Amino acid sequence: MPKALCIGELLIDFVSTTPDVTLAEAPGFVKAPGGAPANVAVGLAKLGMDAGFIGKVGADAFGDFLRDVLQQNSVDTEHLIADDAARTTLAFVATRSDGMKDITFYRHPGADIQLTPDEINIGYVQSAELFHYGSVSLSHSPSREATLHAIRTAKAGGARLSYDPNLRLMLWDDADNAKRWIWEVMPYADIVKISEEEWEFITGDADLEQGIERILGLGVQLLIITLGERGCYYTNGSAAGFVDGFIVNVVDTLGAGDAFVAAMLSQLMPPRDLTSLEKVELDRIMRYANAAGALATQKIGVIPSLPTPSEIENFL
Ligand code: ADP
Repeated sequence: MPKALCIGELLIDFVSTTPDVTLAEAPGFVKAPGGAPANVAVGLAKLGMDAGFIGKVGADAFGDFLRDVLQQNSVDTEHLIADDAARTTLAFVATRSDGMKDITFYRHPGADIQLTPDEINIGYVQSAELFHYGSVSLSHSPSREATLHAIRTAKAGGARLSYDPNLRLMLWDDADNAKRWIWEVMPYADIVKISEEEWEFITGDADLEQGIERILGLGVQLLIITLGERGCYYTNGSAAGFVDGFIVNVVDTLGAGDAFVAAMLSQLMPPRDLTSLEKVELDRIMRYANAAGALATQKIGVIPSLPTPSEIENFL
């Protein structure tokens, strides 16, 4: 059984073929496999890890396509379920001239939120050494309960848990509810990655130190705030620092965070004691992850741009 599991959304990103436009202005879109936790699963597999994905697609052409993509990338799909009733979830994405993403989801409902707690295979989850999750699968029932059940099962099984909230406010019926659930699953995580854009909403606090203290206070051992092209900031409570990003000609920034997470996690497996990692080692790991994030900006779509170890080494 796979050592690393990711749970959550697997969907089609229709990415605008034209940069610097709103969705309304975009003349055409390229079909790309997406969904942050699925991207991380592929990212881990490309980096040589034994990875699996837990989630739901529709029993339709897009769902078949997504399953094929995971399989082609050596991700275990034994627990990727096809739903007869709901369609595979779609997201249309354009990057505006101010760099912000314009995203519309077709998920009313989509198959990804139909995953039920009963469909979580306990033995599969308990055997994982690494378990990664986000908050998109918490926005609706029953995938909310399924995700919670899997998180608790993984924790009880002794896995290392990794969490990237990956805030998508438009998927929630109310912002307070989003915040509540994002925090609800924080204490289970050993590693948390939050992007700078999400920081203020999630912590409700522009003050970096107070937000960090609050998150580490929940038992999180390693917290990373990604800063786009500026790289990242990390802390494990004793070692902390900024690690510069790389200057590249960006094609599409979608999925840079997922590439970053996969690369970082690959360097922390088999599970290492996070709180005793020293600054020099954490600096190295974050530089490696920044390189993966930068490489992910070099192609349209996420999965095709997730790097292999030799691509990262060559880039560095
Ligand atoms: P997310 O993709 O989750 O919103 P970020 O935008 O912070 O997160 O990107 C994650 C990581 O990807 C950054 O820490 C950085 O290493 C890399 N990255 C993102 N955007 C760029 C960019 N424009 N140039 C170089 N590296 C980038």
